[in-house]
Amino acid sequence: LVARMRPFGTTIFAEMSALATRTGSVNLGQGFPDTDGPPEMLEAAVRAIRDGRNQYPPGPGIPELRAAIATHQREFWNLDYDPDGEVLVTAGATEAIAAAVLALCEPDDEVVCFEPYYDSYAASIALAGAVRRPVTLRPGPAGDYEFDPDELRAAFGPRTRMVLLNSPHNPTGKVFTADELTLIASLCVEHDVVAVTDEVYEHLVFDGAHIPVAGLPGMRDRTVQISSAGKTFSCTGWKVGWACGPAPLISAVTRVKQFLTYVNAGPQQPAVAVALGLPRSYYEGFRDSLRGKRDRLCAGLADAGFEVLHSAGTYFVTADITPLGGTDGVEFCRSLPERCGVVAVPTQVFYDSVDAGRHLIRFAFCKRDEVLDEAVARLRKLS
Ligand code: PMP
Ligand code: GLN
Repeated sequence: LVARMRPFGTTIFAEMSALATRTGSVNLGQGFPDTDGPPEMLEAAVRAIRDGRNQYPPGPGIPELRAAIATHQREFWNLDYDPDGEVLVTAGATEAIAAAVLALCEPDDEVVCFEPYYDSYAASIALAGAVRRPVTLRPGPAGDYEFDPDELRAAFGPRTRMVLLNSPHNPTGKVFTADELTLIASLCVEHDVVAVTDEVYEHLVFDGAHIPVAGLPGMRDRTVQISSAGKTFSCTGWKVGWACGPAPLISAVTRVKQFLTYVNAGPQQPAVAVALGLPRSYYEGFRDSLRGKRDRLCAGLADAGFEVLHSAGTYFVTADITPLGGTDGVEFCRSLPERCGVVAVPTQVFYDSVDAGRHLIRFAFCKRDEVLDEAVARLRKLS
């Protein structure tokens, strides 16, 4: 294995899901829903297979999906992208992130990102030979995660090439505020830096509002905006994602994407186009359902003795294990299946800073209510 990939072991999600299977635990670790997405979308995929749409689709994605993505961007976020040249379909958000970093970062370029960060960020940056410059999110007095603006300013320098931003944010559930995003955008403009924005949870905001960075002054032409059908339409196994941005940036990302996967699975593409065209009531119903699950799990976790932080978006919430006598989240999560038959994910593994997230663990609440209730009943045995 090449040196730059040696620090990366098996992903925490694979490790924890395997542990859940092995021990028969309730899996609130890896974030995937346990119910299927909209039936219209599922039917459209079956139809596409039956109709023989089973050969290589066009490299950038089928035209009807690119058009549906552009319409969605305009209708929800008031952002205009040309489906021919400014929209690229990828194998999930993961490929879009990797292709963007590989296409836009030279070796030794620096990428500013907020820790804890989604695990593929560090690996993509390492593959490019670039260097990550983490800015730390820490729980503030009101239970929301915050960063120090001076730490962010200090992270920008002559070698900064990119900001890789995720809002709503996994694993914290933080939704970056207008003030925070404005500061980030102004630093991008000042230092002539590209923003790659991972907005896979764009439709899962419970408190506050989602603000796409691409819509802020000076950002449209320096932002690659990424999202995925996996989250919004509960089809994480389909791996249909996309990137939108100005033609020069999307053409660079496309160049790399060609040699990572060439094209993506065919039959899912018309189906995701159907899903993107669902009425607003679908999106609102999805969000409201997840808000109910957040409230249900958070109340249960607090009852079980955890100190629960605020999740304003995504389908994750973090909890402090200190009140239950825990000091190390990695140890806590490794022993949790044996102690009570529940799997969670230690937040520490998403930080570079050794101690910043040691006492925090993440739970996914994108599960049926009875599964959440069962998890809580088991966790109550801890105290
Ligand atoms: N970014 C974030 C923040 C995520 O939580 C995920 C979840 N899997 C991804 C990217 C990857 O998305 P996909 O499955 O579409 O590759
Ligand atoms: N995004 C999901 C999570 O954070 C799972 C992603 C994965 O398994 N790579 O749990």
